[in-house]
Amino acid sequence: MSDLMKGKRGLVMGVANDRSIAWGIAKALSEQGAELAFSYQGDAFGKRVEPLAASVGSDFLLDVDVTDDASLDAAFGQIEARWGKLDFVVHAIAFSDKNELTGRFVDTSRENFKNSLTISCYSLVDVARRARPLMTEGGTILTLTYGGSNRVTPFYNVMGVAKAALESAVKYLANDLGPEGIRVNAISPGPMKTLAGAAIGGARKTYRHTEANAPLRANATLESIGGTAVWLCSDWGACTTGETVMVDGGYHVLGMPQSENL
Ligand code: NAD
Repeated sequence: MSDLMKGKRGLVMGVANDRSIAWGIAKALSEQGAELAFSYQGDAFGKRVEPLAASVGSDFLLDVDVTDDASLDAAFGQIEARWGKLDFVVHAIAFSDKNELTGRFVDTSRENFKNSLTISCYSLVDVARRARPLMTEGGTILTLTYGGSNRVTPFYNVMGVAKAALESAVKYLANDLGPEGIRVNAISPGPMKTLAGAAIGGARKTYRHTEANAPLRANATLESIGGTAVWLCSDWGACTTGETVMVDGGYHVLGMPQSENL
C-alpha cells in the first residue's frame, strides 16, 4: 500500500459485484489509503457489496436508487453525520432497457430515453449538488463514460446519447464547481465484461474487436481503470478538471481497423 489517498474519504456508487468498474476503482483507492463508503441499489446488490466493502475495511453501506430523491438525501445525510466532510465521489451508474440496446437507435422510446438519461446522466448532477456542501476542502467527482458517446457503436444506441450528455455535464459541473476547488472528470474505458456491459447487444464482438484493433491490442482492465481513478482523485490530478480520460488501449485514435483485420 502507498498513501496517495491517505486521509481522504469518499463515496463509491455503482458496485454490483467484483467485476464492476466501481469495484476496480474502489480497490485501487483503498490500496492508496482512502476510506470508503459504498452505495448499492437495493438489498440483492447490498448482499454482494457487503463482503466486498468489508474486504477493504468498510462497513459504511448506503442503499441508494438514484431515481429516488429521498434515498439520495438520506445517504448524503448519513455521510455528513458520520464523516462531516467528503473528499471524492465515484459515480459508476448507468441504465437502459436492455431491449433498446439492440436494433436501431431510431426506434428508441420516449420512456426509455427519459429513464436512461435520468439514471445515466442527471444522477451525476443530483449527486454533485449534494456532495458539494460536504467538500469543504475541495474534492473530486469522477464518472464513467464510453466512446460510444461521440462515435457510433452498434447497439449502444440511447446509451451513446446519454454518455454524450454525461460528458457535457462533466464540463458544465467542472466550471460551476471549480471555484470551490472541486474537480469533475470522466474516465472512458473500452468495453468491459460487466453486468451493464453484457446488456449491450453484440457485447462480445465489441470486446473482441477492440482488443484486436486497439494500438495496445488490449482492452482496459479493472487495474488500469483503478490506476487512472487514483490519479484523478488524488492530489496528483490537482489541475485536471472537465476532462474525459480515455482508458481504451488507444482504440479511439483509429480511423479504421488494423490492416490484419480488414
Ligand atoms: P455494473 O453493472 O457492474 O455497474 C452498473 C451499476 O449501476 C450497478 O451497480 C447498478 O446497481 C447501478 N445502477 C443502475 N441503475 C441504478 C439506479 N437507478 N440507482 C442506483 N444505481 C443504479 O457495470 P459497469 O460496466 O461497471 O458500469 C459502471 C459504469 O461504467 C457505467 O456508467 C457504465 O456505463 C460505464 N462503462 C462501462 C463499460 C463496459 O463496457 N462495461 C465501458 C465504459 C463505461
